[in-house]
Amino acid sequence: MSRAVIFFVALLFAPVVTAGQGRMTYGVQYSRADESRIRVSIEMAEPLAGLQTLVMPRAVPMGYGEQPYDRFVGEVKAYGAANEALPVKREEGPRWILGKAGAKLRRVAYEVDLERMEREVLSGGDASKVRPGYVGLLGYSVFAYVEGQEEEPLRLRAEGPSDWPVFSTLAPAVPPASGSVTAEVANFYALADSQIVMGPNTTIEKIDSAVPLFLVTYSESATDTRILGRLGAEALEAVFRYFGRAPFAHYTILQEFLKPVSKLHQYGLSMEHLGSGTFTLGLDRRLTAESSAEEQMRTRFNFAHHIAHAWIPKRAYGEGYFPFQWELAPVFDSIWFSEGFAQYAAMDALANAMPEAEAQKFRERMIELRFRRTLADVPAFLRKMPLVEVSHIASTRYGEDWRTGRTVFSRGGLMAAEMDARIRERSQGKKGLRDALQHLMAWSAKEERAFRIDELPTIFKEATGVETRDILEKWLAPMKD
Ligand SMILES: [Zn+2]
Repeated sequence: MSRAVIFFVALLFAPVVTAGQGRMTYGVQYSRADESRIRVSIEMAEPLAGLQTLVMPRAVPMGYGEQPYDRFVGEVKAYGAANEALPVKREEGPRWILGKAGAKLRRVAYEVDLERMEREVLSGGDASKVRPGYVGLLGYSVFAYVEGQEEEPLRLRAEGPSDWPVFSTLAPAVPPASGSVTAEVANFYALADSQIVMGPNTTIEKIDSAVPLFLVTYSESATDTRILGRLGAEALEAVFRYFGRAPFAHYTILQEFLKPVSKLHQYGLSMEHLGSGTFTLGLDRRLTAESSAEEQMRTRFNFAHHIAHAWIPKRAYGEGYFPFQWELAPVFDSIWFSEGFAQYAAMDALANAMPEAEAQKFRERMIELRFRRTLADVPAFLRKMPLVEVSHIASTRYGEDWRTGRTVFSRGGLMAAEMDARIRERSQGKKGLRDALQHLMAWSAKEERAFRIDELPTIFKEATGVETRDILEKWLAPMKD
């Protein structure tokens, strides 16, 4: 036998490794319907020797700011190889030192106070929630990691009260599992960017679409989930057709319509994830049978915008997005691309699904309302700053000082619009920005790295044959008015 055949035969008789064995396991427990806390445990694949560091995220992917999630973590415990208690010491920042020299860390456990999180985090979309008959968990707000283990594959097991439906965006199912759900997860990033939903007051549906769509709704007043499901499926299909292929096997829309916790709390910003989106809105944004075409279009565009983020920048990104820095909000030079181009792509994707005459009007109207007027409304000093500088500033206060967010996305959106118009014109309508962005997706998957801003026109030209560098430079420069 040749060496290759011997190796192959040896493989055949190697012990079978079951999926999940040898993985780190994250456990989430919410045991009683009236509790305000969850318990989280992390069981190592193999005990880790010596001192280890537990880190709770403060920055989250595309959060453009920081939230003090470590403040809501308590009762941190560490256990050794023989299940003996090990020392735990709180450090500066969102860190804990676990264990001691000569010992091995096998398990970590802690609690998260969800009620306090929702009370103290004023932007509604950034907090996990516990409300009557409902628990909604944002992965990054409840999961810590042991430093150095971020890239390890893991298993998630989430448990609720035994008769409650339990749903994870990592392993969505209809009907949802009762009492507990498990999922195999590629790494900490995928876990942190997922959501878990539990409770009898949720509606969990699977909607027919080009890519399987799950709609999870928790509403504190009557809403029409059929309209939501239809708008969600239309948005998902349009964006999927725009990019040509999906980077996920299924998508989940988690829709919350909430009564505010206080007058200071805000509900308006949605949050995109790798294979899902969290849409945390006030009751005024509910849809009913009476909702106007305008209100439906607003919801459809909001879905499409955040679904498009699963491509831009989640799978094609400028420098700083990956690997993600969890403790301090990273500073990006290309939020104008992540936001402006994603919103432009979402708008164009919806237009492509319309009859041609209507589509052109829709494009022009959206470019005018969403980008041109928005930009006209921001103070001149923001327009007169170089765009990369505004992007740096918006990296930590995009939503908090919404003027910075609006400046970067509208300048990026207008750049995208001008590039699209030129590519269409010079290719006699055969190509568009869409071809450039599809090529960028393929480029990013192949290169497995961030693009540098100055590489974009080269990548776009490879796909379309059209030069766009002067348009990029014009929009990066301070504006003249
Ligand atoms: Zn966005």
